[in-house]
Amino acid sequence: MAVVDTAPTAAGTGSSVVVERCQICEYAPLERILFLGYLPPVNQMRTIDALPKEQPAYPALWLQCPRCTLIQLGLIVDKEILFPPEYPYTSGTTKILRDNFAELYTESQTVLPMKPEDLAIDIGSNDGTLLSNFKNGGHRVFGIEPSQVGNLANQRGIPTKIAFFDTAVAEEVRRQQGPAKIVTATNVFAHIEHTHEIVDSILLLLDEKGIFISESHYLLSLVETLQYDTIYHEHLRYYSVHSLQYLLNMHGLEVIHARRIPTHGGSVRVYAARKGQYPVRPSVAQTVKEEGAGLGAERLHAFKGRVVQSKLDLYALLRDIKKAGHRVYGIGAPSRASTLIQYVGLDDGILDCVLEIKGSLKIGKYMPGTLIPVQEELRLYADQPEYVLLLSWHIADELIPKLREKGYRGKYIVPLPEPKVI
Ligand SMILES: [Zn+2]
Repeated sequence: MAVVDTAPTAAGTGSSVVVERCQICEYAPLERILFLGYLPPVNQMRTIDALPKEQPAYPALWLQCPRCTLIQLGLIVDKEILFPPEYPYTSGTTKILRDNFAELYTESQTVLPMKPEDLAIDIGSNDGTLLSNFKNGGHRVFGIEPSQVGNLANQRGIPTKIAFFDTAVAEEVRRQQGPAKIVTATNVFAHIEHTHEIVDSILLLLDEKGIFISESHYLLSLVETLQYDTIYHEHLRYYSVHSLQYLLNMHGLEVIHARRIPTHGGSVRVYAARKGQYPVRPSVAQTVKEEGAGLGAERLHAFKGRVVQSKLDLYALLRDIKKAGHRVYGIGAPSRASTLIQYVGLDDGILDCVLEIKGSLKIGKYMPGTLIPVQEELRLYADQPEYVLLLSWHIADELIPKLREKGYRGKYIVPLPEPKVI
């Protein structure tokens, strides 16, 4: 059931395209929810010795479709700009992600128990961590991964095709491997430009009774805990179960189960199958009902106000700390740190540096769009600044005890949802 997608393509243009119509249902005009200003590409970081030079920045405008409710960025930037080859994406497979993937495997087997010869395919399979659970369960596995990290998976015995996922790749994999009982895609659904092509390609891979499992950063969590810092150009779309359901329904798929999971500060795992193949669990209606209450027009309007207020509150907090002559170091330079720094307007006069653990490719560079240097975390214990700003604030509960244990004695600023000092 191919859906014709007429939107222009940014990939390969070296530029960007404006989103004129909804990327799922083609409705226009879209409604403006929030504008975070112009953000530089997160992965284009200048080295500390170099003088600043011309740097692009792209508008981060959050739009909502009044028909299918999808929230999307108003600009699609060429992925060659966002993912330059000199910054290879290295797997951030943390314990919480590894545990989550193990749990995904276990849960999936309660929905569709697989036989040994049955195949599981992961799209955006990275180093093969997710698939290793299916492999250890005795099943056939196959990964599709655009970056060279896929080689790591091949070395670990998880067959992986290194390519961007599209129809041609799906056809080839289907020919060679046969149909898959389970297809997974975790945190890829928001990143790829043409959604309808992805869903059609997934259908090509999927057995008649197969199940598609996706995990996406969850819009409801984003709004509830004010994670506006997860808005950046790599994330083209911000899914609720409702908007995902709308998309999948257009392709003859039905959401049969949905569940919130803790990864990335709040995600949602959604199971889908061809219509009528499986009973629809009550979790689907329950989740969509929660979204009705949590993501209505009033709540989204209020979200903008809360974002603006949090910026002012953080600035006021930092003003008093700087006035008293204290130092503030940033901790962690994930992509979301860049959005927060840009939107709040932090510079090297406010944050002396941002610290990363030894081995990070970001050390020795400036935070995008600023002259705030990224340096090794060891500096924290030597300098003992009075305050640190937790830029990975969504894992503050995990971070604070770790930093204390390693010997930091100062105070912690958690910037969101409401700025507070610990
Ligand atoms: Zn729409």
